[in-house]
Amino acid sequence: MLGVVLLKILYNESMKNHTSFKIGGPADKVIMPESEEELIRVIQKCRKENVDYFIMGNGSNILVRDGGIKGVVVKIEKNLSNINIEGNKITVQSGALLTRLSKKALKNSLEGLEFASGIPGTVGGAIAMNAGAYGGEMKDVVSKVKVLDKKGKVIEHSGEEMNFRYRGSRVQDEGFIVLEVEIELKEGNYDEIKEKMDDFTKRRKTKQPLEYPSAGSTFKRPEGYYAGKLIQDSGLKGLRHGDAQVSEKHSGFVINVGDATSKEVENLIKVIQKTVKDRYNVVLEPELKVIGEKQKG
Ligand SMILES: Cc1cc2nc3c(=O)[nH]c(=O)nc-3n(C[C@H](O)[C@H](O)[C@H](O)COP(=O)(O)OP(=O)(O)OC[C@H]3O[C@@H](n4cnc5c(N)ncnc54)[C@H](O)[C@@H]3O)c2cc1C
Repeated sequence: MLGVVLLKILYNESMKNHTSFKIGGPADKVIMPESEEELIRVIQKCRKENVDYFIMGNGSNILVRDGGIKGVVVKIEKNLSNINIEGNKITVQSGALLTRLSKKALKNSLEGLEFASGIPGTVGGAIAMNAGAYGGEMKDVVSKVKVLDKKGKVIEHSGEEMNFRYRGSRVQDEGFIVLEVEIELKEGNYDEIKEKMDDFTKRRKTKQPLEYPSAGSTFKRPEGYYAGKLIQDSGLKGLRHGDAQVSEKHSGFVINVGDATSKEVENLIKVIQKTVKDRYNVVLEPELKVIGEKQKG
Protein backbone atom coordinates (compact mmCIF):
# COMPACT_ATOMS: atom_id res chain seq x y z
CA MET A 1 0.00 0.00 0.00
CA LEU A 2 2.72 2.44 0.96
CA GLY A 3 5.27 0.83 -1.30
CA VAL A 4 7.06 3.96 -2.49
CA VAL A 5 10.27 2.87 -4.19
CA LEU A 6 13.40 2.84 -1.98
CA LEU A 7 11.43 3.48 1.17
CA LYS A 8 12.80 1.77 4.21
CA ILE A 9 9.91 -0.02 5.91
CA LEU A 10 9.99 -2.34 8.92
CA TYR A 11 6.93 -4.51 9.45
CA ASN A 12 5.51 -5.64 12.80
CA GLU A 13 8.46 -3.92 14.39
CA SER A 14 8.99 -3.91 18.15
CA MET A 15 9.04 -0.35 19.44
CA LYS A 16 11.52 -1.48 22.09
CA ASN A 17 14.08 -1.05 19.31
CA HIS A 18 13.10 2.57 18.75
CA THR A 19 12.58 4.06 22.22
CA SER A 20 15.04 5.11 24.90
CA PHE A 21 12.77 3.38 27.45
CA LYS A 22 13.22 0.03 25.56
CA ILE A 23 9.49 -0.53 26.03
CA GLY A 24 6.63 -0.98 23.59
CA GLY A 25 4.68 -3.47 21.53
CA PRO A 26 5.00 -3.79 17.76
CA ALA A 27 4.08 -1.11 15.26
CA ASP A 28 2.36 -2.35 12.10
CA LYS A 29 4.91 -0.40 10.07
CA VAL A 30 7.86 1.83 10.81
CA ILE A 31 8.76 3.94 7.79
CA MET A 32 12.00 5.88 7.51
CA PRO A 33 11.77 8.29 4.57
CA GLU A 34 15.09 9.21 3.00
CA SER A 35 14.13 12.67 1.79
CA GLU A 36 11.68 15.45 2.51
CA GLU A 37 9.79 14.59 -0.69
CA GLU A 38 9.45 10.96 0.36
CA LEU A 39 8.25 12.00 3.78
CA ILE A 40 5.58 14.25 2.28
CA ARG A 41 4.51 11.46 -0.09
CA VAL A 42 4.14 9.00 2.79
CA ILE A 43 2.02 11.43 4.79
CA GLN A 44 -0.13 12.28 1.76
CA LYS A 45 -0.74 8.58 1.18
CA CYS A 46 -1.61 7.90 4.83
CA ARG A 47 -4.06 10.79 4.82
CA LYS A 48 -5.64 9.77 1.53
CA GLU A 49 -6.06 6.16 2.64
CA ASN A 50 -7.13 7.06 6.18
CA VAL A 51 -4.21 5.22 7.74
CA ASP A 52 -3.27 6.46 11.21
CA TYR A 53 0.29 7.71 11.48
CA PHE A 54 2.54 8.81 14.31
CA ILE A 55 5.62 10.96 13.81
CA MET A 56 8.62 10.14 15.94
CA GLY A 57 12.21 11.27 16.22
CA ASN A 58 14.62 9.45 18.49
CA GLY A 59 11.88 8.07 20.77
CA SER A 60 13.40 9.64 23.89
CA ASN A 61 10.20 11.16 25.21
CA ILE A 62 7.62 8.50 24.44
CA LEU A 63 6.15 5.51 26.21
CA VAL A 64 4.69 3.07 23.70
CA ARG A 65 1.99 0.83 25.13
CA ASP A 66 2.41 -2.95 25.17
CA GLY A 67 -0.31 -3.49 22.53
CA GLY A 68 1.83 -1.60 20.01
CA ILE A 69 0.86 0.94 17.37
CA LYS A 70 -1.78 0.41 14.71
CA GLY A 71 -0.94 2.01 11.41
CA VAL A 72 2.28 3.71 10.52
CA VAL A 73 5.12 5.15 12.57
CA VAL A 74 7.10 7.63 10.52
CA LYS A 75 10.56 7.86 12.00
CA ILE A 76 12.48 11.03 11.24
CA GLU A 77 16.01 10.55 12.44
CA LYS A 78 19.35 9.76 10.74
CA ASN A 79 17.49 9.46 7.44
CA LEU A 80 16.79 13.21 7.44
CA SER A 81 19.61 14.83 9.34
CA ASN A 82 21.61 17.23 7.17
CA ILE A 83 23.26 20.13 8.92
CA ASN A 84 24.39 23.21 7.03
CA ILE A 85 26.26 26.06 8.70
CA GLU A 86 26.63 29.52 7.21
CA GLY A 87 28.12 32.17 9.47
CA ASN A 88 26.16 32.08 12.70
CA LYS A 89 23.11 30.42 11.13
CA ILE A 90 22.50 26.69 11.03
CA THR A 91 19.93 25.08 8.80
CA VAL A 92 19.20 21.60 10.04
CA GLN A 93 16.82 18.82 9.02
CA SER A 94 14.48 17.70 11.77
CA GLY A 95 16.01 14.24 12.20
CA ALA A 96 19.43 15.49 13.32
CA LEU A 97 20.29 14.66 16.91
CA LEU A 98 20.76 17.60 19.28
CA THR A 99 23.99 16.03 20.55
CA ARG A 100 25.46 16.04 17.03
CA LEU A 101 24.14 19.52 16.30
CA SER A 102 25.63 21.02 19.45
CA LYS A 103 28.99 19.39 18.69
CA LYS A 104 28.92 21.01 15.24
CA ALA A 105 28.11 24.36 16.80
CA LEU A 106 31.07 23.92 19.16
CA LYS A 107 33.36 23.02 16.27
CA ASN A 108 32.39 26.32 14.65
CA SER A 109 32.72 28.25 17.93
CA LEU A 110 29.03 29.08 17.89
CA GLU A 111 27.45 29.75 21.25
CA GLY A 112 23.90 29.13 22.44
CA LEU A 113 23.29 25.40 22.02
CA GLU A 114 25.34 24.21 24.98
CA PHE A 115 22.16 23.45 26.95
CA ALA A 116 21.12 20.92 24.29
CA SER A 117 24.33 18.91 24.20
CA GLY A 118 23.06 16.14 26.50
CA ILE A 119 19.41 15.97 25.40
CA PRO A 120 19.04 12.68 23.52
CA GLY A 121 16.38 13.84 21.04
CA THR A 122 16.16 15.02 17.45
CA VAL A 123 15.68 18.62 16.41
CA GLY A 124 12.07 17.82 15.39
CA GLY A 125 11.27 16.31 18.79
CA ALA A 126 12.97 19.24 20.49
CA ILE A 127 10.86 21.75 18.55
CA ALA A 128 7.65 19.83 19.39
CA MET A 129 8.62 19.75 23.08
CA ASN A 130 10.53 23.04 23.29
CA ALA A 131 13.25 20.94 24.88
CA GLY A 132 15.42 22.70 27.39
CA ALA A 133 17.92 22.30 30.19
CA TYR A 134 20.20 24.34 32.46
CA GLY A 135 18.42 27.61 31.75
CA GLY A 136 18.29 27.27 27.95
CA GLU A 137 15.51 26.09 25.64
CA MET A 138 14.91 25.74 21.90
CA LYS A 139 12.83 28.93 21.96
CA ASP A 140 16.04 30.93 22.59
CA VAL A 141 17.83 29.81 19.43
CA VAL A 142 15.20 29.01 16.80
CA SER A 143 14.64 31.66 14.14
CA LYS A 144 12.60 29.73 11.56
CA VAL A 145 10.76 26.42 11.32
CA LYS A 146 9.62 24.73 8.11
CA VAL A 147 6.68 22.41 8.68
CA LEU A 148 4.15 20.31 6.83
CA ASP A 149 0.75 21.40 8.05
CA LYS A 150 -2.45 19.38 8.44
CA LYS A 151 -3.63 20.45 4.99
CA GLY A 152 -0.48 19.03 3.42
CA LYS A 153 1.10 22.43 2.77
CA VAL A 154 4.75 23.20 3.44
CA ILE A 155 4.90 26.47 5.36
CA GLU A 156 7.44 28.46 7.33
CA HIS A 157 7.00 30.10 10.70
CA SER A 158 9.30 32.41 12.57
CA GLY A 159 10.47 31.33 16.02
CA GLU A 160 8.04 33.81 17.61
CA GLU A 161 5.13 32.29 15.69
CA MET A 162 5.82 28.82 17.10
CA ASN A 163 4.11 29.50 20.44
CA PHE A 164 6.98 27.92 22.36
CA ARG A 165 6.20 27.35 26.03
CA TYR A 166 7.35 25.04 28.79
CA ARG A 167 7.64 21.62 27.11
CA GLY A 168 5.28 22.47 24.28
CA SER A 169 4.83 24.37 21.03
CA ARG A 170 2.49 24.95 18.14
CA VAL A 171 3.68 21.65 16.66
CA GLN A 172 1.60 19.80 19.24
CA ASP A 173 -1.37 22.18 18.97
CA GLU A 174 -1.69 21.96 15.20
CA GLY A 175 -0.26 18.57 14.30
CA PHE A 176 2.63 20.07 12.32
CA ILE A 177 5.42 17.86 11.07
CA VAL A 178 8.75 19.60 11.48
CA LEU A 179 10.88 19.36 8.34
CA GLU A 180 13.71 21.83 8.77
CA VAL A 181 14.80 24.39 11.31
CA GLU A 182 16.94 27.50 11.18
CA ILE A 183 18.94 28.17 14.30
CA GLU A 184 20.68 31.44 15.03
CA LEU A 185 23.64 31.40 17.38
CA LYS A 186 26.27 33.88 18.51
CA GLU A 187 29.93 33.78 17.68
CA GLY A 188 31.68 32.65 20.82
CA ASN A 189 34.87 31.26 22.27
CA TYR A 190 35.55 27.56 21.61
CA ASP A 191 37.08 26.85 25.03
CA GLU A 192 34.30 28.59 26.91
CA ILE A 193 31.60 26.76 24.95
CA LYS A 194 33.37 23.45 25.52
CA GLU A 195 33.76 24.11 29.22
CA LYS A 196 30.04 24.79 29.55
CA MET A 197 29.15 21.62 27.63
CA ASP A 198 31.53 19.51 29.71
CA ASP A 199 30.08 20.94 32.90
CA PHE A 200 26.50 20.11 31.82
CA THR A 201 27.56 16.58 30.83
CA LYS A 202 29.22 16.06 34.20
CA ARG A 203 26.15 17.33 36.03
CA ARG A 204 23.90 15.00 34.03
CA LYS A 205 26.09 11.98 34.65
CA THR A 206 26.21 12.65 38.39
CA LYS A 207 22.53 13.42 38.87
CA GLN A 208 20.63 11.39 36.25
CA PRO A 209 20.25 7.61 35.99
CA LEU A 210 21.76 7.50 32.50
CA GLU A 211 22.84 3.88 33.04
CA TYR A 212 19.19 2.74 32.77
CA PRO A 213 16.67 3.07 29.94
CA SER A 214 14.14 5.85 30.58
CA ALA A 215 12.31 8.66 28.84
CA GLY A 216 14.04 11.35 30.87
CA SER A 217 12.02 13.32 33.42
CA THR A 218 8.73 11.50 33.77
CA PHE A 219 6.78 14.57 34.87
CA LYS A 220 6.71 18.24 34.01
CA ARG A 221 7.95 20.62 36.65
CA PRO A 222 4.90 21.76 38.63
CA GLU A 223 4.91 25.49 39.27
CA GLY A 224 6.83 26.32 42.43
CA TYR A 225 8.07 22.76 42.98
CA TYR A 226 10.42 20.10 41.65
CA ALA A 227 8.75 16.83 40.70
CA GLY A 228 11.74 14.76 41.83
CA LYS A 229 11.81 16.34 45.29
CA LEU A 230 8.05 15.91 45.79
CA ILE A 231 8.35 12.24 44.81
CA GLN A 232 11.35 11.67 47.05
CA ASP A 233 9.75 13.49 50.00
CA SER A 234 6.66 11.30 49.53
CA GLY A 235 8.86 8.28 50.28
CA LEU A 236 8.59 6.85 46.77
CA LYS A 237 12.29 6.70 45.88
CA GLY A 238 13.12 3.19 44.65
CA LEU A 239 9.44 2.11 44.49
CA ARG A 240 9.02 -0.71 41.98
CA HIS A 241 6.16 -2.07 39.91
CA GLY A 242 7.59 -5.09 38.14
CA ASP A 243 10.66 -3.82 36.31
CA ALA A 244 9.56 -0.17 36.37
CA GLN A 245 11.20 1.74 39.19
CA VAL A 246 11.42 5.23 40.62
CA SER A 247 15.16 5.83 40.20
CA GLU A 248 17.23 5.71 43.39
CA LYS A 249 19.52 8.33 41.87
CA HIS A 250 16.86 10.86 40.78
CA SER A 251 13.24 10.38 41.83
CA GLY A 252 12.02 12.43 38.86
CA PHE A 253 12.95 9.55 36.56
CA VAL A 254 11.02 6.31 36.15
CA ILE A 255 13.52 3.78 34.82
CA ASN A 256 13.35 0.36 33.21
CA VAL A 257 15.50 -1.95 35.34
CA GLY A 258 14.99 -5.05 33.20
CA ASP A 259 12.08 -5.85 30.93
CA ALA A 260 9.46 -3.39 32.15
CA THR A 261 6.10 -3.22 30.42
CA SER A 262 4.25 -0.06 29.62
CA LYS A 263 1.51 -1.21 32.01
CA GLU A 264 4.03 -1.35 34.87
CA VAL A 265 5.25 2.16 34.06
CA GLU A 266 1.72 3.53 33.75
CA ASN A 267 0.69 1.92 37.06
CA LEU A 268 3.76 3.35 38.78
CA ILE A 269 2.98 6.79 37.33
CA LYS A 270 -0.57 6.57 38.74
CA VAL A 271 0.69 5.63 42.21
CA ILE A 272 3.19 8.52 42.14
CA GLN A 273 0.52 11.00 41.02
CA LYS A 274 -1.96 9.88 43.69
CA THR A 275 0.59 9.87 46.51
CA VAL A 276 1.93 13.34 45.65
CA LYS A 277 -1.60 14.73 45.21
CA ASP A 278 -2.77 13.31 48.56
CA ARG A 279 0.32 14.52 50.38
CA TYR A 280 1.04 17.90 48.79
CA ASN A 281 -2.10 18.67 46.76
CA VAL A 282 0.10 19.04 43.67
CA VAL A 283 -0.90 17.51 40.34
CA LEU A 284 2.02 15.91 38.48
CA GLU A 285 1.49 16.01 34.75
CA PRO A 286 3.47 13.50 32.67
CA GLU A 287 6.09 15.05 30.39
CA LEU A 288 6.47 11.87 28.35
CA LYS A 289 3.90 11.09 25.66
CA VAL A 290 2.03 7.82 26.09
CA ILE A 291 0.99 6.36 22.74
CA GLY A 292 -0.35 3.13 21.24
CA GLU A 293 -2.78 0.43 22.27
CA LYS A 294 -3.25 -1.25 25.62
CA GLN A 295 -2.50 -4.96 25.55
CA LYS A 296 -5.68 -7.02 25.28
CA GLY A 297 -6.52 -9.56 27.98
C1 LIG B 1 18.16 10.47 29.61
C2 LIG B 1 17.23 11.53 29.07
C3 LIG B 1 17.46 12.85 29.39
C4 LIG B 1 16.61 13.85 28.89
N1 LIG B 1 16.85 15.15 29.21
C5 LIG B 1 16.04 16.11 28.75
C6 LIG B 1 16.28 17.49 29.06
O1 LIG B 1 17.23 17.83 29.73
N2 LIG B 1 15.41 18.40 28.57
C7 LIG B 1 14.34 18.07 27.79
O2 LIG B 1 13.61 18.97 27.37
N3 LIG B 1 14.10 16.79 27.48
C8 LIG B 1 14.91 15.81 27.93
N4 LIG B 1 14.66 14.50 27.61
C9 LIG B 1 13.46 14.17 26.81
C10 LIG B 1 13.69 14.13 25.29
O3 LIG B 1 15.03 13.86 24.96
C11 LIG B 1 13.23 15.44 24.63
O4 LIG B 1 11.87 15.69 24.85
C12 LIG B 1 13.49 15.41 23.10
O5 LIG B 1 13.29 16.71 22.58
C13 LIG B 1 12.57 14.44 22.37
O6 LIG B 1 13.03 14.29 21.05
P1 LIG B 1 12.82 12.92 20.23
O7 LIG B 1 13.37 13.13 18.88
O8 LIG B 1 13.35 11.78 20.99
O9 LIG B 1 11.25 12.87 20.18
P2 LIG B 1 10.22 11.62 20.33
O10 LIG B 1 10.39 11.06 21.70
O11 LIG B 1 10.48 10.69 19.20
O12 LIG B 1 8.87 12.37 20.19
C14 LIG B 1 8.45 13.30 21.18
C15 LIG B 1 7.30 14.15 20.63
O13 LIG B 1 7.78 14.94 19.54
C16 LIG B 1 7.03 14.67 18.35
N5 LIG B 1 7.96 14.75 17.21
C17 LIG B 1 9.17 14.14 17.06
N6 LIG B 1 9.73 14.49 15.88
C18 LIG B 1 8.86 15.33 15.27
C19 LIG B 1 8.84 16.02 14.01
N7 LIG B 1 9.85 15.95 13.14
N8 LIG B 1 7.74 16.78 13.72
C20 LIG B 1 6.72 16.88 14.58
N9 LIG B 1 6.65 16.26 15.76
C21 LIG B 1 7.72 15.49 16.11
C22 LIG B 1 6.45 13.28 18.55
O14 LIG B 1 5.28 13.09 17.77
C23 LIG B 1 6.16 13.30 20.05
O15 LIG B 1 4.95 13.95 20.32
C24 LIG B 1 15.50 13.50 28.08
C25 LIG B 1 15.29 12.14 27.76
C26 LIG B 1 16.15 11.16 28.23
C27 LIG B 1 15.92 9.73 27.85
